[in-house]
Amino acid sequence: MTRAYNFCAGPAALPEAVLQQAQEEMLDWHGKGLSVMEMSHRSDEFVGIAEQATQDLRDLLSVPAEYEILFLQGGANLQFSSVPMNLLGTSTKADYIDTGVWSAKAIKEASRYASINVAGSTKADKYHRVPTQAELSLQQDAAYVHYCSNETIGGLEFDYIPETSTPLVCDMSSTILSRPLDVSRFDMIYAGAQKNIGPAGLCLVIIKKDLLNREIASIPTMMSYRVAAENASMYNTPPTYAWYLSGLVFQWLKKQGGVDAMATINERKAMKLYSAIDNSALFANPIALANRSWMNVPFTLADTSLEDIFLKESEEAGLLNLKGHRSVGGMRASIYNAVPEAAIDALISFMKDFEQRHFKG
Ligand SMILES: *Cc1c(COP(=O)(O)O)cnc(C)c1O
Repeated sequence: MTRAYNFCAGPAALPEAVLQQAQEEMLDWHGKGLSVMEMSHRSDEFVGIAEQATQDLRDLLSVPAEYEILFLQGGANLQFSSVPMNLLGTSTKADYIDTGVWSAKAIKEASRYASINVAGSTKADKYHRVPTQAELSLQQDAAYVHYCSNETIGGLEFDYIPETSTPLVCDMSSTILSRPLDVSRFDMIYAGAQKNIGPAGLCLVIIKKDLLNREIASIPTMMSYRVAAENASMYNTPPTYAWYLSGLVFQWLKKQGGVDAMATINERKAMKLYSAIDNSALFANPIALANRSWMNVPFTLADTSLEDIFLKESEEAGLLNLKGHRSVGGMRASIYNAVPEAAIDALISFMKDFEQRHFKG
């Protein structure tokens, strides 16, 4: 068996040690004679797994006690509707910052429930930078402010946390757990699991408990954060196996030294890849230096006719899923926590070699 290096944006690479542990525990979890997949979600065993995962996440991000941690379903996309339904209360207004594909989708969905003020947008700059704090036009009477701290498709990451006088909500699907985070600066954080947490099917929500009483009356029960919190995220049958695997990832992260250790490694991984791109004549990344994502590194080829051969040869070299998103084209290397530094080294030497062999300038 050979495992390739996987640069997929999501579902993304998982730590090999986690997959191995899951394999060892697949048929018989801790001598109980059954797989986690076959357990009742009401059993002591699974409740223990779920509580341990929740506690490990709380430890990793130092989530304060006044925040609830929820494991929900429907991916980050469902949160685009859940956020307004849960947080609008009696207000009809919300502020959204527009920095690319994902924040635009959140705006589109929220517009069905509220009047949305686009409080800042860098669309005119092709989303190559984020708006500065001074550029934000926030409303005093908005129910909340929403933004996406890392645009997975554009490879654009905020280098600051917006200051707001209303609750701050953040889509952190592709950056959560990649570096330390001051949760207390936020009122709500959400993240689809399949980037930096675990398998697809789960969406993590971290929310201040005092926001759990603002839902609109017609909210579907399954979308209510209050109901989820009252039922420890088990109002219905949760995606138990995805929850268990996420828990294994949290334990793996703790063993690596937590988010401080990951930040050191992630910064080093990203900087060497950007430096290889900047020092080449063939490859380029257009994002403002301060806003270059540590997790998603898009790059274009000066000669676009080389793109197909780049993808073919990289795949043959065991470097998978480098094709950029269809909306931006080019290439993208997603280098989440679980992508080892050796993968980035292999990608960089492949890129250098490819440029020498194919690019005449
Ligand atoms: C992947 C992603 C989403 C969508 O996630 P789903 O789980 O597929 O709904 C939303 N926001 C960001 C920033 C993402 O990276």
